[in-house]
Amino acid sequence: PRTPLIAGNWKMVLDHQQGTLLVQKLDWTLKDARHDYSAVEVAVLPSHPSLRTVQTLIEGDKLSIRLGAQDVSAHEAGAYTGEVSAAQLAKLGVTYVAVGHSERRQHHGEDDAVVRAKTARALAGGLVPIVCVGEPLEVRKAEQHVEHTVGQVTQALTGLSAEQVAGLVLAYEPVWAIGTGEVATPQDAQEVCAALRSAVAEQFDQASADAVRVLYGGSVKPANIASIMQQPDVDGALVGGASTDAGDFAAIVRFRD
Ligand code: 13P
Repeated sequence: PRTPLIAGNWKMVLDHQQGTLLVQKLDWTLKDARHDYSAVEVAVLPSHPSLRTVQTLIEGDKLSIRLGAQDVSAHEAGAYTGEVSAAQLAKLGVTYVAVGHSERRQHHGEDDAVVRAKTARALAGGLVPIVCVGEPLEVRKAEQHVEHTVGQVTQALTGLSAEQVAGLVLAYEPVWAIGTGEVATPQDAQEVCAALRSAVAEQFDQASADAVRVLYGGSVKPANIASIMQQPDVDGALVGGASTDAGDFAAIVRFRD
């Protein structure tokens, strides 16, 4: 039994004051609803400058919300101006880090080799990578989405052990569904999430495939989350736009209500 994870990727949207306010509201709302964080895990991924403030709030108020970062350096430490290392994030109480988000692949030239290096570095530094994959519209139209996303995952995980893979998170985010309001159908999400899990079984073993969590991301809203979460191979969601509204995000977390 895999614990569902609902993670909010704030992207470059909220500053540290908006971020702390949102986390406070989110926690109040979830406490009101008697949310069981051990039944559905909740994480927020602020921009780097907001991590410290949100971490202070989470630690000070003993909140059960987990902290994630949106990116990590592929390098361990040293003269890399502007980069943030896995060790720095881990020391700050960060649990998760998104790696290979399509916006990083598109706008920052991250290829599969960079994604692989960041994934390995995140694991070595004590973080749980959320490895993001997804096909652009042309690839979907050509019906190559399974091959495309399986290829991305295989590349990202090369060199890892089965134990490492068992503990990480994959996220299927079709590029055409991100920020467009065009959500994949639950069947689309299931098809690719199941294919990614099978790919892990083939590359590693069945135990790691059974353990790895696979999230869906792309225009997730309170109105569509329940049907997506009903799919057997979907273990959660990576939420962009709707995660910057405390009420909407809480409603997504409470998808079973
Ligand atoms: P939206 O939920 O805004 O479509 O973004 C999805 C996403 O990119 C999460 O990482």
